[in-house]
Amino acid sequence: MHPNDPGLRSFVDVDPSSDFPIRNLPYGVFSTSNSPAPRVGVAIGNHVLDLAVLDSEGLIDLGAAKGVFAQSAINAFMALGPKVWSQTRTRISQLLRHDNAELRDNAALRKRALLPRDQVTLHLPLEVKGFTDFYSSKEHATNVGTMFRDKTNPLLPNWLHIPIGYNGRASTVVVSGTKVKRPRGQLKPPSAELPTFGPCKRLDFELEIGVVIGQPSAMGEMLTEAQAEAMIFGFVLLNDWSARDIQQWEYVPLGPFQAKAFATSISPWIVTREALEPFRLHGPTQDPMPLPYLQQRQPNNYDMALDVALRAPGMAAPASICTTNFKYMYWSSVQQLVHHASSGCAMNVGDLLGSGTISGPEKHQRGSLLEISWNGTEPVELPGGIKRSFLEDGDSLSFHGWCQGNGYRIGFGEVEGTIVPSA
Ligand code: CA
Repeated sequence: MHPNDPGLRSFVDVDPSSDFPIRNLPYGVFSTSNSPAPRVGVAIGNHVLDLAVLDSEGLIDLGAAKGVFAQSAINAFMALGPKVWSQTRTRISQLLRHDNAELRDNAALRKRALLPRDQVTLHLPLEVKGFTDFYSSKEHATNVGTMFRDKTNPLLPNWLHIPIGYNGRASTVVVSGTKVKRPRGQLKPPSAELPTFGPCKRLDFELEIGVVIGQPSAMGEMLTEAQAEAMIFGFVLLNDWSARDIQQWEYVPLGPFQAKAFATSISPWIVTREALEPFRLHGPTQDPMPLPYLQQRQPNNYDMALDVALRAPGMAAPASICTTNFKYMYWSSVQQLVHHASSGCAMNVGDLLGSGTISGPEKHQRGSLLEISWNGTEPVELPGGIKRSFLEDGDSLSFHGWCQGNGYRIGFGEVEGTIVPSA
């Protein structure tokens, strides 16, 4: 049976509302108090399956790559390539099936390899080699252009021709749950004559999906659509924290620098491209037609629901402030990757590409506070009379994302971050 087969069942109990049914099997890196060395596992229902244990017991055959899961990052496994990714996912799926006795009937092994998720600590799942951030939602670029440029002509002339991006920082990509310290920087509101240095006053989030690159490309080589797709290992939720006031002063003429460099949070589970296969669809029609090297033959977008919730201090529960969908993206992840390599730029195993803020056509689908509060002019109202234009200390942001199947979902879990004061 194919690991995406809707008929699959596991001997591990999985609630239909769980993000992690047997058809998902996302990879993460975890440790336990008994066994503090981080290693690779997959999520199944409310459990984590320890792949390092299964490998050492000979239940997963990786040949010369034996031991690849007993590492604190998934990079070495990703380097083995798409064929091994696929074979391994198929084997893990087999081991978790309701009608396979190998793990199901081995109580001693199950006790070592199948761990309750609330008893593990999740770590950053990959060693991030490079982080690039794109700007590929037409609705987001239009909103920002309308606010800061020209209502009648919000998109810059290059936007419909190039997947716009910039090279960000890999050093400050952190896993969900990591506190985010309010950044400091140069601030110069339009009304001030000279800049000052101090804590950011317009701190924001950006709802994005991160693409995890699992195969390298050589310096000087261009990629075809098929080659680029085959290099994509999987996807994470990504919060590209942004300091709007620092950005406003620094971004001319070279683009964002410190405004985006202080933190980027990702979800701990990497959902594989293969698990998302049933949810592919064509993106919006591209007009004008992109240049030949960017043209797509396949559906490279995904029907993926996304939700952002904010919990301010004093609120009993997080309140949803945005619900949208990844399918609206104008430039696909494949086009971003093709463009990234087009100059001759080499890509590495472990590179992370941010999609860019994901906004949809409706007001409730705006993927940043900048847009939701329309640059602070329409503060969002939260339960208990709390209002927000930008993030305050103690605020917690959480994203969820999932592809909805018939009676099951392929989900990402959560990426959460709480703002702490800069000093
Ligand atoms: Ca961004």
